[in-house]
Amino acid sequence: MRTSQFPLNTVKDTPSDAEIASHQLMIRAGLIRKLAAGLYSWLPLGLRVLRKVEKITREEMEKAGALEVLMPALQPAELWQETGRWQHYGPELARLKDRHERDFCLGPTHEEIITDLARHELKSYKQLPITYYQIQTKFRDEIRPRFGVMRSREFIMKDAYSFHLTQESLQETYDVMYSAYNNIFDKLGLNYRAVIADSGSIGGAVSHEFHVLAESGEDAIAFSTGSDYAANVESATALREKQPLPKPTETREKILTPGQKTIAEVSAFLGVAPQKILKTLAIMRTIKDALGEEREVFWLLYLRGDHELNEIKARKLLGDFRFATDDEIESHLKGRAGYIGPPLPESHLIIPWLADWSAIEMTDFVCGANEAGYHFKGCNWFNDFILFDLENFDHSIEHLSEEYKKDIRNVVEGDKSPDGKGEITLARGIEVGHIFQLGTKYSEAMKAGIINEGGKYQTMIMGCYGIGISRVVAAAIEQNHDAHGIVWPNNIAPFQVAICPMNMHKSERLKEAAEQLYADLVAAGFDVLFDDRKVRAGFMFADMELIGIPHYLIVGDRGLDAGTVEYKDRTASDNEVIPLADIVEFLKAKLV
Ligand code: ATP
Ligand code: MG
Repeated sequence: MRTSQFPLNTVKDTPSDAEIASHQLMIRAGLIRKLAAGLYSWLPLGLRVLRKVEKITREEMEKAGALEVLMPALQPAELWQETGRWQHYGPELARLKDRHERDFCLGPTHEEIITDLARHELKSYKQLPITYYQIQTKFRDEIRPRFGVMRSREFIMKDAYSFHLTQESLQETYDVMYSAYNNIFDKLGLNYRAVIADSGSIGGAVSHEFHVLAESGEDAIAFSTGSDYAANVESATALREKQPLPKPTETREKILTPGQKTIAEVSAFLGVAPQKILKTLAIMRTIKDALGEEREVFWLLYLRGDHELNEIKARKLLGDFRFATDDEIESHLKGRAGYIGPPLPESHLIIPWLADWSAIEMTDFVCGANEAGYHFKGCNWFNDFILFDLENFDHSIEHLSEEYKKDIRNVVEGDKSPDGKGEITLARGIEVGHIFQLGTKYSEAMKAGIINEGGKYQTMIMGCYGIGISRVVAAAIEQNHDAHGIVWPNNIAPFQVAICPMNMHKSERLKEAAEQLYADLVAAGFDVLFDDRKVRAGFMFADMELIGIPHYLIVGDRGLDAGTVEYKDRTASDNEVIPLADIVEFLKAKLV
């Protein structure tokens, strides 16, 4: 391509709503343009990158034996009603009516549609296992569309779905997909990690996410320093070492802590480490009573002061809940928000509770006194509070029922890895892919079965496998950029090589040489951008750096006298002088 025919739409100004580098650079380099919140058009330069990501993904899907299909974005409500997701998906589902007042949605994902296709097309066990995939537009009315195409309302996803007779067969395909995903992200040239994930509302037991590592990533991921354990912090766990706990040495004492409400404030005020302060959270838990009626019950959750509640883990144990309001805290606990703690026996309050196991192992700790402006110090669970565990005859924390001490917190740096090998460290990641073992969640609800070898009807077992194609482009930039612009990995750069002739419009000889070089490189199969604009050298380089072309060649009169061109790698500070005759071989070696 020549810039005279392939205009670069680079702009100087950073849009005010672009908070992260990739969003800013995608606009400045002229890859995308905003239409409305969470909606973007892809300009020719951006689309070249998107198509390369698609191509690599498609090649690996084909190698993995998946069959390409293309399903409609517009989907009838009836299928979503069959699985119950019409009710449960919430406002992210873009719903609309057709001219006959029939309900439809714009697909945020395609489990319902593929399951419908499979129940009609697959009849016999002989057709299984089978994996279908598509690369297609998805719609999600995200509550906070942001970061450009990273979290947009319309985006391109590769989604694949597999159908099986047995769990073993699902596991086999899952493993094939897992390695196909590794191949894809290797080829994309990204620094990524596969991590154990929470399978969330889609359901199923086994799930992995693929994260591109980048400081601005929305997800926290936990790695072990001593093994290959890696998990999203949403589901990462720490090794719980059963060791004898220190014996209490202090007695409870009420102390004045006016205006000191947060753990950090109390810690600074009393000079006590957050690990020695109990964090008490009040929640309203939704339960079903004996008559099946839903009602809310006041609960207390206990954590160590340096730990954060992991709501996903807590919801798995307690079901749905919300945080209690200040008024609810006063009426149920007779305590004051900011100063709450476990109720004392003399309060005669029996409040259901759950503690993180590391909170229950605390001794001689500080906690709120349930009275404005006061905390207790020197507290110990069995000495000071009623734990109403009637089975626990010797009143020891070691023998307190496991029912009360669960894992409800996020792991922190320095926790022991759950496999016992090494410690947890944390990094930030951008989720670019997600694979799940769905089991029979959709096939059962939609009666997708086949006749098995024994002639009997059997519900199919499913897996699903997504990659956020458009998010990958943003994530690649987020991970690979510098002060001058984007630094594309070779395989997804919109162009691999740029030719930058110096003052070509003043020298016929230089023009000819540059044209010849362009023709040679194109003939050798490179993706080349020939900058034939009549612009200053500085301007040309600034553009090439901004759009992130990984390799460029500078053609000048002085070099031509010596039969050479200058080569510059996007990330190197120095240029190399290369004989014109060697240039094709030289670039080939750079681009393997
Ligand atoms: P997230 O937690 O980021 O919202 P998700 O769990 O909702 O992601 P999936 O339903 O697993 O995502 O979708 C598969 C892939 O699609 C994700 O791994 C991600 O790369 C991409 N994706 C999801 N939502 C968006 C979005 N709003 N914009 C761009 N890509 C998205
Ligand atoms: Mg989402």
